[in-house]
Amino acid sequence: MEHRELPVEGWRKVVHFRDDDANLNAIISVHDATLGPGCGGTRIFAYPSFEAGLEDVNKLSRGMTFKNALGGIPFGGGKAVIFADPKTEKTPDMIRAFARAVDSLDGLYYTAEDSGVTERDIEIMQTVTKYAAGIGKDGIGGNPSPFTARGVWRGMQAGARRVLGADSLKDVRVSILGVGAVGMELARLIHEEGGKLVVADVNKDAVAEAQDRFGAQAVAPEEAAAADVDVFAPCALGGSINAGSIGGLKAKIIAGAANNQLATPDMDLALKERGVLYAPDYVINAAGVISVGLEILGDWTKQEMTRRIDLIGDTLTEIFRRADETGKPTGEIADAMALEVIARGRDAA
Ligand code: NAD
Repeated sequence: MEHRELPVEGWRKVVHFRDDDANLNAIISVHDATLGPGCGGTRIFAYPSFEAGLEDVNKLSRGMTFKNALGGIPFGGGKAVIFADPKTEKTPDMIRAFARAVDSLDGLYYTAEDSGVTERDIEIMQTVTKYAAGIGKDGIGGNPSPFTARGVWRGMQAGARRVLGADSLKDVRVSILGVGAVGMELARLIHEEGGKLVVADVNKDAVAEAQDRFGAQAVAPEEAAAADVDVFAPCALGGSINAGSIGGLKAKIIAGAANNQLATPDMDLALKERGVLYAPDYVINAAGVISVGLEILGDWTKQEMTRRIDLIGDTLTEIFRRADETGKPTGEIADAMALEVIARGRDAA
């Protein structure tokens, strides 16, 4: 295996690994390891160029630094990419070679699933390295989607308390864009609490299921952001808050599971100026990595996991409070709070 460290200013360690026999071409990026080893998933994707993969992995690992810090787990930010089409090029040999790469960093980086990586792949990695996690065993950990949904639900309740003065989501109207693994479970939680649902998805069967089970009203995906509701919950792809959609928003709260909900950073301030409360995506959707973190620490119990997820609501309440107090947008406040956590970790070291 060839490896070459790539100097990236502001990143703790970025290493390019190649193993031609196993057809492995991968980058592991650790952005910050102040709070603990870098932790974040591996993405297998056929990037158009090496530079595109490098840019993506560094952006993702930096994002994990912030997510893990506010998620309250003692891990820094890390992420990895493998340059391959997961459907046609992934092989057990490639996965094993990648696990050797992870192992060679001696615990500076823990990996888990991201797109293109399955629980089976993690199992293969675990035959080579102890620095891979994210599979359910004996009722511990496992599929993160229900955890993520519960975290978003808690965050949504925190938003409704702040903006609507509501003690629960009863009669609160929520538009969910994307009723997949997370969105459908979120719909169930909102429905059980007496909330009113609007749903949109390109998958017609998923829409029909939400109509059947929760009496949801269906709209076209391009209408979900402009629905006449209290809360908009982006749970499909990133970028649904953009220059085109923001003008049509009727919701006063944005609280959803999707990563990178803001198409551009200026949307953070633009939402605030329109009087919309935004629950920063990486805070509200952190339950999956919190579960992986507890699994690595050997602290995973159902009770502890529930407690940690409920803390997501408390963290958001504090972000909303500080945003009100300072007049700053919530995304900016969240970043500042994450940096405070890291600075405290540095001082304590
Ligand atoms: P999923 O693939 O199960 O569900 C996504 C749903 O969105 C699908 O039903 C799909 O048909 C729909 N969709 C895709 N493109 C669409 C479009 N253009 N318009 C309308 N609907 C569209 O994924 P998921 O696991 O539910 O994750 C949802 C989002 O949350 C993703 O952005 C993911 O990155 C993020 N997220 C998920 C987790 C988790 O634990 N699963 C954790 C953190 C973040």
